[in-house]
Amino acid sequence: MKVLVTGGAGYIGSVVTRVLIEDGHDVVVLDDLSTGHRDAVPAGVPFVHADIADAGDVLAREPFDGVLHFAAKSLVGESMNRPELYWATNVCGTRHLLDAMRRHSVPRLIFSSTAAVYGEGGPDGIGEDTPPRPTSPYGTSKLAVDLMISDECRAYPLGAVSLRYFNVAGAYGPCGERHRTETHLIPITLDVAAGRRPHLEIYGNDWPTPDGTCMRDYIHVLDLARAHVVALQHARPGHHAIYNLGNGRGFSVREVVAAVERVTGRRVPVTVAPRRPGDPAWLVADDSRARAELNWQPQADLDTIIADAWAFHQQRRHTDGLAGGGTTS
Ligand code: UDP
Repeated sequence: MKVLVTGGAGYIGSVVTRVLIEDGHDVVVLDDLSTGHRDAVPAGVPFVHADIADAGDVLAREPFDGVLHFAAKSLVGESMNRPELYWATNVCGTRHLLDAMRRHSVPRLIFSSTAAVYGEGGPDGIGEDTPPRPTSPYGTSKLAVDLMISDECRAYPLGAVSLRYFNVAGAYGPCGERHRTETHLIPITLDVAAGRRPHLEIYGNDWPTPDGTCMRDYIHVLDLARAHVVALQHARPGHHAIYNLGNGRGFSVREVVAAVERVTGRRVPVTVAPRRPGDPAWLVADDSRARAELNWQPQADLDTIIADAWAFHQQRRHTDGLAGGGTTS
């Protein structure tokens, strides 16, 4: 298929781009490079440096079979302080994209949604039919887009699939997490293991969980990327499907720290800090719908996710001279 990947210079978008190419698809990447990296886009892939609002210019040039839409703002903490950025980029940006897709008769959309739409979960895992109650503007904005896509599919022949990611981590070859401001648990913990930060701050140890730290469901970015390729084949005109993507198993922050120590063979000193606003205690997927309907299975366990993220981290230390302190990019 001929597809446009918005946000294809970002962490997840770049891995999906790579997997799409390996699968024989013809990919164009659009990214404004506000958080992405030009060199994360595989060599030879046409790259358009533009805002999501300008996606119509690309779609006008030639017929596309689909759009995979990753371009978004995605930090829970930032969204609590700057909600307007999340409504503008995530909601208004996607509105422009849907209008352009309709104008140019693009039949398929795969949308990068999130478990943050659900809000607080529990040990049993969150299914897609759980009533959404987001706890942050990030989650609210992604939920608004999911609702907008459903309306679009009811009125027009668009076939869409929203993939609600739980906690994505790991790396695939040269593509991994390299955010300019890193807020995610696994890359920060690897920085500590590598001696680039003195300790990990655990955001709260009084949550209603077995060890008092938050429970999350970690999924390897490559498993996630493969689900996108499958979803592209599953988009049906006039239908909006929603699937959770996780491993179906929760790990606490302390369990992640222990896994990082095990995999890297390094010590990770921790301190306990106040809770981070917007964080739910539990986010664990019931991903049985994706397994059954997409015939997709995640392959990587937590140690593999961390081992691949660590290999990427070490590789960047050599290529980018990251041996000193500072941020990750
Ligand atoms: N976390 C933490 N210290 C950090 C970064 C994250 O304790 O420096 C916790 C965070 O509160 C959450 C979990 O780790 O419970 C995963 O956070 P992350 O930002 O990686 O992903 P999120 O769940 O927010 O999408």
